Amino acid sequence: MSALGIYLHIPYCLHKCGYCDFNSHPENREESEIYVSALLSEIDHYAPRLAGETVSTVFFGGGTPTLLPPASLDKILGRVKNHFNLRLDCEITIEANPATVKQETLAQIRSAGFNRISIGVQSFDADELKLLERVHNEEEIHTTIDRARLAGFDNLSLDLMFGLPGQSPEKWKSHLHQALEKKPDHISAYSLTIEPATSFFKLQDRGLLELPPEDTQLEMFQLTIETLQSAGYEQYEISNYARPGFESRHNLNYWDNGEYLGLGAGASSYLNGERFKNTNLPSRYIREVQAEGAAVESTETLTPLHAMGETIMLGLRRLKGIAIEDFENRFQISFKKVYGKVIDPLLNEGLITLKQNHMALSRKGLYLADSVILKFLA
Ligand code: SF4
Repeated sequence: MSALGIYLHIPYCLHKCGYCDFNSHPENREESEIYVSALLSEIDHYAPRLAGETVSTVFFGGGTPTLLPPASLDKILGRVKNHFNLRLDCEITIEANPATVKQETLAQIRSAGFNRISIGVQSFDADELKLLERVHNEEEIHTTIDRARLAGFDNLSLDLMFGLPGQSPEKWKSHLHQALEKKPDHISAYSLTIEPATSFFKLQDRGLLELPPEDTQLEMFQLTIETLQSAGYEQYEISNYARPGFESRHNLNYWDNGEYLGLGAGASSYLNGERFKNTNLPSRYIREVQAEGAAVESTETLTPLHAMGETIMLGLRRLKGIAIEDFENRFQISFKKVYGKVIDPLLNEGLITLKQNHMALSRKGLYLADSVILKFLA
């Protein structure tokens, strides 16, 4: 096994955002204390299975991990460090939402060993934040970023969202510029998608929420690429941009279809060709971990064809694409033999490129990524 990523899910949030389909639940202080104990037990449970493996990234995501007291975060990370073999330069990320962190909290988190912070900004506009049902305001965005820098986070990422109802390309451009003024090392810029079982879905269904037309969304995507590239950020994945050397190593491992262990409610793992997922509901997760040490709800062993399809699906999201030689070494099969018939029409339509033994999306293919990727999964 090559270097491994560990993901830890903290499922609590102050409020459910209208567009959110993540595994997030209302803040519950009493339950979250027991949740932390369960997480510690789950770490103990998996440690022997992964003894001797090297961990290159650790990621605390949510939900809102910064809702937990810093002492709890310190305890969980300490347990991970004690039980797994972390690389000396291990990337240790925590997601943070403005309005959930104080200066001293950030300093404590930083000294616990977190060395990368990803801040959920989404928008710099008061009306848009209200529409998204985010609990923070514009001022809190600025103070949180400034405080994170002061606390010593020299690897800082901002999450932004475009294609919001009523948003114009000019407004989106102003958000990009405000983000750039904060000099982040990394920016994730996702277009808003309406997922089933969200309150946005119900609003859309009733005709009360309308996204900008597709060509406007495409214009915003192009604007993102141009604005961030000219500011020195490399687009290394469809929605992710970084200053040189600041790509998210944890996410790169996902896109490389690498192995990872997911801990906590709803977390997924991929180890030795097997995918398994924990139960979503925190109270149930706690009960199952207390009883059995783990809370796996479903397991799937990938067939070689399925694993190949996932490698393509994830790898094409990276701008550098897929190294065909690595693919062939991994699956011991000729790339052309499996995908020759899919590749030729896509090449003819100019949607993919084949250069120096790499297959990647072309600029045109990038804008149609989902439909191009689907061809490989058919
Ligand atoms: S803060 Fe994030 S995880 Fe929590 S409800 Fe909002 S979008 Fe979902």
